[in-house]
Formats: sequence, C-alpha cells, structure tokens
Amino acid sequence: MNISQVTYPVALVGAGPGHPGLLTLRAVELLERADLVLYDRLVPVRLLDHVPESARRICVDSLHGTHPERWPEIYQLMIDAARQGQRVVRLKGGDPFVFGRGGEEAEALQRAGIPYEIVPGVTAALGAGAFAGIPLTHRQHVSAVAFVTGHEKPDKKDSFLDWAGLAHFPGTLVVYMGMARLAFIVERLIAHGKPAQTPAAVVHWATTGRQRTVTAPLAELPAAVQQAGLKAPALVIIGSVVNLRTELAWFESRPLLGKRILVTRPRHQAREMIARLEELGAVVALLPAVAIREPADWAPVDQALAHLSTYQWLVFTSANGVEALMGRLRQTGRDLRALAGVRLAVIGPGTADALRRYHLEPDLVPAVYDSEGLAAALKDHVAGQRVLLARADRGREVLREQLSSVAQVEQIAVYSQVDAIQPGSEALELVRRGDIDYITLTSSNIARSLVRALDEEALQRIRSGAVQLVSISPVTSAAIREKGLPVAAEARESTTEGVVQALLALSGGVHLLRCTQETTAPRSEKYVQES
Ligand code: SAH
Repeated sequence: MNISQVTYPVALVGAGPGHPGLLTLRAVELLERADLVLYDRLVPVRLLDHVPESARRICVDSLHGTHPERWPEIYQLMIDAARQGQRVVRLKGGDPFVFGRGGEEAEALQRAGIPYEIVPGVTAALGAGAFAGIPLTHRQHVSAVAFVTGHEKPDKKDSFLDWAGLAHFPGTLVVYMGMARLAFIVERLIAHGKPAQTPAAVVHWATTGRQRTVTAPLAELPAAVQQAGLKAPALVIIGSVVNLRTELAWFESRPLLGKRILVTRPRHQAREMIARLEELGAVVALLPAVAIREPADWAPVDQALAHLSTYQWLVFTSANGVEALMGRLRQTGRDLRALAGVRLAVIGPGTADALRRYHLEPDLVPAVYDSEGLAAALKDHVAGQRVLLARADRGREVLREQLSSVAQVEQIAVYSQVDAIQPGSEALELVRRGDIDYITLTSSNIARSLVRALDEEALQRIRSGAVQLVSISPVTSAAIREKGLPVAAEARESTTEGVVQALLALSGGVHLLRCTQETTAPRSEKYVQES
C-alpha cells in the first residue's frame, strides 16, 4: 500500500450537466493531475481534455455486466488504484450527490478506509433551468423547488414517491429520469390533484448544443414530447415558472444551435475555434487531421539560426512556424536578441498573434492573408535583400518563387506536418453516420488529409450535400475541389473568425460582428507597412 504519498487519493467529482464550461475550478485541478479517470456515459468527452495524456480513462459503461452489476467493479477499480498510490477521479454527470449514487460510492470508499474528497457539480436541474430560461424559484411564483426521481417501478406498492404530497407541493417540481414513465408520472400527479393546466416543460440535453425544450400544459405534455421526438436525457419541469420561458429563453436562439460541426485542426490550435462555435450554440467534434512534428533534419535550421543577422527579413507563414523556430532558438542556447535587426513578416493575424506572444511585433502583415498576398506585400521591401522563409516541410512554393526574382531567398523547414487521422476514430464515424452537418477545413493540407481518411460512404455524404465543407481560403477550396468535392462556403477573410462567419451565413444565422481591435481599427492602420 502506498497511500501515504497521496493524501486524498480519490475524488468524486461533479462534471456538470454537459456544457464543458460548467465545471468547477476544483474539478479541473483534480482532472489535471489524475492517474485514473472513471467517467459516466453522460459526461461530455471534452472534459477529458483536462486529463494528462498518460492517465487511464475508463467509461464505466464499458465495464462488464449491466447497470447494477457494474457498481462493485467501479468500487474495486477505485480502491485498487488508490492502494497503488494513484490519484483517481470518479467523474459523474451533474452533481455526485443528486441521483448519482455518489453516496454509495463514498460509503464503499469509507468501508475500505480510502480517504476521499467530494466535489459538487452543477446538477442537471440547475443547468436546465438556466439554459431553458426557467427560473426554478421566483418571488412572484414559487418559493420552493423539489428534485424528484421518475425512475421507479410504476406499480404503486413499490413506489417511494408520495404522489399526493408531490401533487400538492407548493413549488416547482423537477423530475430526473422521468422520460420512460412520463405518461404515468403526469397521470399520477393529475389524479392526486395537480391541475391539468399547470405549465410544464421537458428540457432535452440541457446546456449543450443539442438542447431542445418542449412546453405544454401538464396533461398534454406526454403527447407533445412524443410528437417532438424527445428522449432521454431530459428533465421534466412542472410549475408556473415555465411560463417565464417565453421571455427568458436566451440560449435556444443562438444562431448555430444544434448544428453539428467537425473541426479538423490540430488540437492545440482548435481551442479558440471550438469555444467560439460552442458560444454560438454548435455541437462541436474535434478530429485533428494533421499533427505537427519536428523536422526530419535540424541542420539547415541551426545553420540559419547561427547566421540570423545576415538576413534582412524573416518570414512566417503559420503560427506553428513561429512556435517551432522560437523553440529551436531556445534549444540551441539563443534568445530573442538573436532576432535583433531582422524584420519580421507574417501571413496573417493568427501568425501575428503567435509572434506577439513572444513580445515581437510583425513589421508586415499583408492585406490578403495568403502566400500571393504576402509575396505581393513583401516584393516592394525585399529587393536585393536576404530573406529567410520559416515554414513546414510541405506546402506551396509560391512565396519562394515570387520573391526569388527580386531577393535572395532561403527556405527552411522548421516543422513537419503529418497526416494524423487514425482509422476508425470516433469523429470519423460521426461523418460516416451522417451525424455531422459541417466540416471546417482550415488549410489545404488539412483538407487533403481528411479526404484521404474518409471512406466512400462519407465521401458520398459530402457529394450529396448532407455534410457540407467550409473552407478558410481559395487555396483550401481548390484543394477540396481537386478531390472532386463541393465547397459549400468559403471564408471571406482567411481567419478563424472568417470561417465562423461563413458558417453563420451558410446555416442561415445572422452575421455577428465582434467588436475587436481588428474590426474597429481602419484597415490602413492595422496593416502596418514598413517605412
Ligand atoms: N447526478 C446527475 C443526475 C444523474 S441521473 C445530476 O446531478 O444532474 C440522470 C438524469 O439526469 C437523466 O435521466 C436526466 O433526467 C438528467 N440529466 C442529466 N444531464 C442532463 C442534461 N444535460 N439535460 C437534461 N437532463 C439531464
């Protein structure tokens, strides 16, 4: 036994109702240092992004046996791992102590003498109330709320629930796990005196892009739910507060609500895009189509770094290029001073931001964010000078070709880009099954890599328009069309926000102007020209 190394080896942690942002800070701290994560089926997979690569992740649904038989195995896994000195997070949907069997799991740990911690989570009722625009209490309506489980045997003898008491409860009723027995629950409540006209709602997949809400007078709720095709997971909310939703349903009017979007960027570059799409209501899946690796040979890079002062310009065509070159600078014992006197050019705002993270301001950003745009902007400045292009090992030759006529150009591969899609990956399955509406493609290499990974069934879905491709630039669009596939929309500006705007236009959503420096500053001021 090795418990002494880890004071509190097990944590029962609430994962919240589904929205990845509705996690507590304590939950994130624990996930970030977990060795083993045991998670429930309803826990959003995205939360596992907080878990170290090396940690074991087990979905408890994948354990042997049926629902009740799994519990002893879950207890044993937690206890064994804790005894081996591992840090265990038992990640449970919503809150661990609200219809989550967290009590039983804590008791099992207690019996085994394993120290533990319990981290509350946003329970589904609170998530559904907030995201459906239904205040669970309200001074003009009710001053109490009851959380009830609907998962019970229907025959009255075995029922724990006091239906008469619930029917007369002076407040809002929120029923968990009630979908399979909805008609029975409604019938019981009305039979015990709950007015048939009481406003009621069912909220499906609350707080996620899949959220849907149906409202009806209590007596009509089962039929309305059936007609809308809503199934579990869902909550039933009963009470006059449901009427407030007509004014307060803020979330379900998000322009990309329910749109299923596949992001194909490398994970480390996808975060901003995913956050933005989710903010607009989308259901986002990540399938990194390419991965970044070290170049096959550092020698040409090291050679160039040793003579940086002999170049007048250093040109970056991607944020990855900036990261790779800066990393190598450090590895070879140099620092930012090696760049003193060298002018810096970047292809667009994303690459400019990558430089700024190193407190370096680009001297030139073109008006059009592609190789042609960059070549055109640079041409006037580099005549007769030495230009160093830091880029990937695969890519277009436009920049070198166009600048070579006026300048002395040297090109180094500071990183390598490889195809990264594993056959049979979950996100690939989503495309094949038709569970994706849009795929965003943010470079021609990403587009080609994705197409290589898709099977005939998935390709057919794209050809038929069931799955639509959204491209970041004309070059990316050309790479898609080269493969015989249609481009449904192309970003007007080759940036993440440009892709988001193209998606909004395509899905019929409104264009949302974000008030950032970029949209408020006049163009001529933004694109700093070298004097
Ligand atoms: N411990 C969890 C509840 C587990 S019981 C919590 O605190 O939320 C599982 C039930 O929770 C589901 O049957 C459903 O009724 C409800 N539920 C969980 N997540 C939900 C969601 N995102 N939207 C609606 N209902 C949800």
